[in-house]
Amino acid sequence: MRYGIISDIHSNLEALNAALESIQDVDVLLCPGDVVGYGPNPNECCELLREKQVVTILGNHDAAVIGSMPLDWFNPYARAAVEWTRDQLSPENHAYLEGLPLTHRSEHFIMVHGSLSSPELFDYITTPWDARPTFVEMPACAVCFIGHTHIAEFYSRKSGETWADQIGMAAGGTIDLKPGFLYIVNCGSVGQPRDFNPNAGVGVYDTEAAMVEIRRLEYPVSVTQEKMQDAGLPEPLWERLEYGA
Ligand code: ZN
Repeated sequence: MRYGIISDIHSNLEALNAALESIQDVDVLLCPGDVVGYGPNPNECCELLREKQVVTILGNHDAAVIGSMPLDWFNPYARAAVEWTRDQLSPENHAYLEGLPLTHRSEHFIMVHGSLSSPELFDYITTPWDARPTFVEMPACAVCFIGHTHIAEFYSRKSGETWADQIGMAAGGTIDLKPGFLYIVNCGSVGQPRDFNPNAGVGVYDTEAAMVEIRRLEYPVSVTQEKMQDAGLPEPLWERLEYGA
């Protein structure tokens, strides 16, 4: 099986289109959360995911938009974008987000937005220490796809050991999945990268080749920025897109 991973799309239609164009050679598309929030095209992004039957889980921004997470967890810019998104979202897309689960498990992978120990708390994994509770929840020799930090990287841990390696993947590249190891993989963010690479981050997981490829894709950032400006979304949110920060 070949899976395409498109996480943290954040209503960025230009980045999502670039992602979908790049990963046509897959059997199933996966989205580890945050379809909406920050960007200018929440309805279009929801509709594309529904149309392409992307296997999607709930992110913290999706949860905030549908009212299942308090807004005081967000900084003022993110909160303004959540409120703007609420006003824009069609009833059908609101219902779609409401139907998303917090995790997804299959024979080949697990998917969670933040951390597997308490998916509803959306804890961040930014260090090997943070990764420990998620590794504990994983069966042997499994892969867990996460999102949330918008940083392309992975954590690997040998079965039975307690410490993990953390490897940055901001420039893209491939991860060889070795037998006897567990992997937590963040393919980066499609719509708002924060690893100082402004190009959209996507992943391709090939189960037969036991490999995850992370690709970074150029997209017309200025088009998204103009739409955000026209929508009155906060300046720091569209400014950051060109720096990937
Ligand atoms: Zn996000």
